Amino acid sequence: MKQIILVVNCGSSSLKLALFDENENKLASALAERLNRNDAFAKIDDDNRTVVLPNGANHKQALQALVSTLRERHLMPGTPTSIGHRVVHGGETFREAILIDNDVVKAIEDCASLAPLHNPVALAGIEATLEQFPDIPQIAVFDTAYHQTLAPRAYLYALPESYYRDWSVRRYGFHGISHFFMANEAARRLDKSPATTSIISAHLGNGCSITAIKDGLSVDTSMGLTPLEGLVMGTRSGDIDPSIFSYLCSRGMSLSEVDRALNHESGLLGISGQTNDMRSLCELADQGHEPSALAIEIFCFRLAKYVGAMMASLSCLDALVFTGGIGENSSRVREKTLSHLALLGFNMDADMNAHHGRYSDGRIDDAASRFPVLIIPTNEELVIAREAARLAAIS
Ligand code: ADP
Repeated sequence: MKQIILVVNCGSSSLKLALFDENENKLASALAERLNRNDAFAKIDDDNRTVVLPNGANHKQALQALVSTLRERHLMPGTPTSIGHRVVHGGETFREAILIDNDVVKAIEDCASLAPLHNPVALAGIEATLEQFPDIPQIAVFDTAYHQTLAPRAYLYALPESYYRDWSVRRYGFHGISHFFMANEAARRLDKSPATTSIISAHLGNGCSITAIKDGLSVDTSMGLTPLEGLVMGTRSGDIDPSIFSYLCSRGMSLSEVDRALNHESGLLGISGQTNDMRSLCELADQGHEPSALAIEIFCFRLAKYVGAMMASLSCLDALVFTGGIGENSSRVREKTLSHLALLGFNMDADMNAHHGRYSDGRIDDAASRFPVLIIPTNEELVIAREAARLAAIS
């Protein structure tokens, strides 16, 4: 049967849509940005014509405008047969994707205290599509769900145990949709079954996280209660001494100022004092801007340390995988990171790395390397579309 799967990804001020057919072909994609502001903007990918949005458009208005434009431009052939939503936080309630009903909506609302910026906008997207397509199965796919296989030793912080019991303070982990895709795609490329494949997956975009995957399951990951922990990111600090928080408060910063600094003014942006964008940082470093070169150094060194740490969770390693905008495109970051890991047996083919593994199905390790090293473009939309089609078929 012909299928049209609509994938909806609501960010705090953005909305991304993608349409797939039953053969996993992408039919169209669209984007709205700067929502709830006077300069809200929307476009259909590969189309330069503007999409008119009401002033200060919210997620619901953007969705309506984009869906009618996709129809007008004959990019959406008929009504969707299923709709998949990306939801950032599923807490401990959701261990896998689920068909949305009133109870699921309520449970996503209950998780909103753990993701106040993200879950409410996902709910706005769900509400908007339920209104527009009331009879179509809608599926929620969670960024946290894949990490629900972590054992207590990996997900508990060394804090009084009542914090976990009473306030749900634990490591949840994020980017699960991307890490899950890596687990499957790496296995396919290595000609193995996902259930017997163990990898370390480094997702390096604006947000960055690394996950140890043992026999297809997440066993450890760098992000924690929130997406602030772990690797150095575009504007997030990643790991710091927790006492820096109270120290900065003692120097006169308020709690919310510190929180803002760690989430929005730190990471690559904070160290370089210039930009959170890795491509621009590489250009600045090439022009001799030392803080930018230092930002790249710190980013790669932290990443290398985490690759080593993730090996403690595995009994064998089938591949180290790089993905996300930086992981897929920055040969410099991969090279610098791997240069710290020679002792563990990682060796890179410089030529393959420079060509982003394009001539080797993504592999950039050389003959002397103990482990394969792969570049795999992430495809979170496809995972959401697959889950939506799968659950709609059995609903
Ligand atoms: P998001 O997490 O928002 O999805 P992306 O996965 O698109 O982000 O990653 C964005 C990052 O990828 C930016 O830091 C950008 O500079 C970096 N990037 C993209 N292309 C390149 C490139 N050719 N070289 C270095 N960095 C790149």
